[in-house]
Amino acid sequence: MMSVKSISKSYGSNLVLKDVSMDIKKGEVVCIIGPSGSGKSTFLRCLNLLEIPTAGDIIFQDQSILNGKIRVNKYRQNVGMVFQGYYLFNLKKVIDNITMAPRSLNKKKKELAEKEACELLDKVGLLEKKDVYPSSLSGGQKQRVAIARALAMNPELLLFDEPTSALDPELVGEVLKVIKKLANDGMTMIVVTHEMGFARDVADRVIFMEGGYIVEQGTPKEIFENPQNLRTQEFLARIL
Ligand code: ATP
Ligand code: MG
Repeated sequence: MMSVKSISKSYGSNLVLKDVSMDIKKGEVVCIIGPSGSGKSTFLRCLNLLEIPTAGDIIFQDQSILNGKIRVNKYRQNVGMVFQGYYLFNLKKVIDNITMAPRSLNKKKKELAEKEACELLDKVGLLEKKDVYPSSLSGGQKQRVAIARALAMNPELLLFDEPTSALDPELVGEVLKVIKKLANDGMTMIVVTHEMGFARDVADRVIFMEGGYIVEQGTPKEIFENPQNLRTQEFLARIL
């Protein structure tokens, strides 16, 4: 579905992504782990064109997304992103947060957009909150709305950047449960996470990044039980 070919990214003289390559197949769930500052967010942001790599190429559905020919808005409908902070529109009701993009970008009729939004809210367990404003929701609920909003564009690929790290510990589980359900439904996803239990459980593949490189990747079993690289071993020893 997506093929990342040797991308690099620098900010000024600071090279933060170094020759990173990755393929992701339809239905695959990839978790990216690694220390702070290793380039995980920068990598995801490149995949969503929030940053433009300084070298390399990204092929999505057989087409380069970096050749200036694709429409970024259209592309982001196919490749959605969920952030650590939820970025909901606080002056709009939950349901309007979800229907906004389908209505304006896809010209969906109000009734249809709302029907689909209700289905998605049901899926994330928040149908009863459809008419409230985001300010009355808990962090976990806000993040579930943000996930429903991303799903409303019917994306081919969803990117998550530490979707639970802003949450109180007791709210982490409800969000991970929703993401896990999406994985079981066959959604293709790349999830940057510090939740090792989740990665072990849900990932088809785990990628360990450090210093702008992919240091090691493998199945959860390979990475968590038998990491080959010393840096992976040290990282896991620190956090597990
Ligand atoms: P964390 O786990 O803390 O989220 P990360 O692995 O996501 O870390 P990045 O946010 O990708 O790391 O940052 C990688 C490096 O790039 C860091 O050294 C950071 O300071 C730098 N960096 C990130 N964004 C910018 C920017 N907009 N301008 C300049 N430097 C940046
Ligand atoms: Mg980050």
